[in-house]
Amino acid sequence: MVLPVEPEFEQAYTELLLTLENSTLFDKKPVLKKAIPVVSVPERIIQFRVTWEDDDGVINVNRGYRVQFNSALGPYKGGLRFHPTVNLSILKFLGYEQIFKNALTGLSIGGGKGGADFDPKGKSDAEIRRFCSAFMRELSRHIGENTDVPAGDIGVGGREIGYLFGAYKRYRNLWEGVLTGKGLSWGGSLIRPEATGYGLIYYVERMLDYVSPGDTFAGKTVAISGSGNVAQFAALKAIELGAQVVSMSDSKGAYIVATPGTSFSVADVALIANIKLERKELFVLDDAFPTGKFTYLPGARPWIHLGKVDIALPCATQNEISGEEALALVAAGCKFIAEGSNMGSTMDAIEVFETERVKAPGSIWYAPGKAANCGGVAVSGLEMAQNSHRINWTKEQVDEKLKSIMSTCFDNCVNTAIEYSSEKTDGLPSLVKGANIAGFVKVAEAMLDQGDFY
Ligand code: GLU
Repeated sequence: MVLPVEPEFEQAYTELLLTLENSTLFDKKPVLKKAIPVVSVPERIIQFRVTWEDDDGVINVNRGYRVQFNSALGPYKGGLRFHPTVNLSILKFLGYEQIFKNALTGLSIGGGKGGADFDPKGKSDAEIRRFCSAFMRELSRHIGENTDVPAGDIGVGGREIGYLFGAYKRYRNLWEGVLTGKGLSWGGSLIRPEATGYGLIYYVERMLDYVSPGDTFAGKTVAISGSGNVAQFAALKAIELGAQVVSMSDSKGAYIVATPGTSFSVADVALIANIKLERKELFVLDDAFPTGKFTYLPGARPWIHLGKVDIALPCATQNEISGEEALALVAAGCKFIAEGSNMGSTMDAIEVFETERVKAPGSIWYAPGKAANCGGVAVSGLEMAQNSHRINWTKEQVDEKLKSIMSTCFDNCVNTAIEYSSEKTDGLPSLVKGANIAGFVKVAEAMLDQGDFY
């Protein structure tokens, strides 16, 4: 067997292609098939050296990247990831997902992704600042408010965006909306930090109501993985809506509530938010959490360790639910899975969810990240709109627009799945097919109009 050269990218590519081929799309619109080999190659990849000095005066070298994948719908748009695992395969998969996700927001944004194999864990603020400045020294030549607008992702939050923005301004002598996720007093949008997590919950609210009209989060048991920005705000919104959040985790282990019926509280999530700002591991909270409230599982993800669960929200990173874990979730009675992370489920896991959905209508319903987590980049798009007009919308205005974008995205996924389905089932429509087809059609038709293929 030949091992894939870019395993994560090939996974994202295959997953999209299989759902398109397994529908009536190319019977109805045969010309769009020609878009596949074109859309799957990035318009441009920039790869560069980042040298920076640590606190001991030692020179360090990292690899920096920006994958400018597709600009049919607007300027390249997508986050920057700083993590030691970053390589071209990871950034190409993220950039590829981002093209179709951004299309699903309905806003004028193309798709891109970037980052560096830099590990922010254990670094001082000064080291982070020097790294951001060194990274932007090269990146600043390739981005701009009408060209490419990066934002945060894993390892890049408000502080990093600040340092990156400052560096861009110094190198280019331009104050422009070149990054999103900015500070509120200098061009950032209200609700941007909350947007991915909140948007995820708004999307699941529509799923709940679709299955049983009137059903809500109140009283539901929600398992969450991860503890970064997405996980924190998904947890807070779920708690606000009356759900019990029973797990949160990081790459070193998972905390799970010890007693059924109890939940992470707003105060527990605040403790997590604080130690994440210090770039520390979750387990340092052992003494800070209420005694006996949680069980810590070192080295574990939550999925096979849960009691009964209604909703699972993977919010950590790619491939964080295996086929085996998907089966465990089904066995735990989980009815809804929605990804806050990008490509949170492996192909095996998706296969389990999709097979169950068809086999036992109403048993389980899976929403992929490119639909369920598009709220983050959507509010980034709203931040760009506010910057161009040099105005600021209120919290309520942005939240209302976010809700409406998530709701339209859900309807689009459902209607597209029904329109192009080749399934003979009375079950729920496939949201993974709906999301992939709706996103792809929008981008491919724009590319056709623009002469990218013909
Ligand atoms: N990194 C986020 C994502 O995966 C946000 C990107 C952005 O706001 O540009 O969608």
